[in-house]
Amino acid sequence: MSNANDVDVHSAQAVHTRFHDVEQAIAEECTAVGRNRDDVTLIVVTKFQPVSVNIALTEVGQWVFGESRHQDAVRKVREPALAHANWHFIGQLQSNKARQVAAYAAALHSVDRPSLVTALANRDREVALPCFVEINLTDDPRRGGVQPTELKRLVDLMLQTPGIKLVGVMGVPAIDEPAEYGFERLLEYRESVLGLAPSATQISAGMSHDWKIALRFGATHLRIGTAITGPRPSLP
Ligand SMILES: *Cc1c(COP(=O)(O)O)cnc(C)c1O
Repeated sequence: MSNANDVDVHSAQAVHTRFHDVEQAIAEECTAVGRNRDDVTLIVVTKFQPVSVNIALTEVGQWVFGESRHQDAVRKVREPALAHANWHFIGQLQSNKARQVAAYAAALHSVDRPSLVTALANRDREVALPCFVEINLTDDPRRGGVQPTELKRLVDLMLQTPGIKLVGVMGVPAIDEPAEYGFERLLEYRESVLGLAPSATQISAGMSHDWKIALRFGATHLRIGTAITGPRPSLP
């Protein structure tokens, strides 16, 4: 699978260039929609990328990373050069991995069911783990996120659970319709979350192809991967 092209596209210089381009575009887009750049967190999704990509990003001041699989994340978390990084966990999380992930995660974006909340309860942690409730924005119940009909029950449980702090909502629009539809729904569901948890104001939304739209819909946390990292290697 490795050829000269793969090396090139993930070189530190290539990563730096794409990072600066996207960062500049985010700043411009914030200005265009009247948002403060400081109110938007850029999470660079480095899932399945070599650790060299993370290190290249720290060289341009980017220390906030998104990872989606524990086995893949943990070897990067242990890398001494990344000891000061912030790891946002954005992928489907098995309950039996929950505590291990919570030990290094700065935030968890994919809380989607009661059993996961229960697995996270009463952890030995001084500061509660910031958590987003992930909501399924599609008609396909197999897609990630809690079904909207189950949202209230899950939020109630999160609010009663010590050791975690509900900070907002997360969602990924369906691929077969305009992203606007999904983000619109996310904002509607957010209203009901805010009714139960007024401080859960954050919105984790927007990926490489739709982050500009997400910003218009109020995203506070952009999860941008390939636009910055280059293409993802195929899964191990
Ligand atoms: C992979 C992933 C991203 C980043 O996707 P890109 O298209 O590479 O920007 C964002 N959010 C989630 C939940 C992901 O799984």
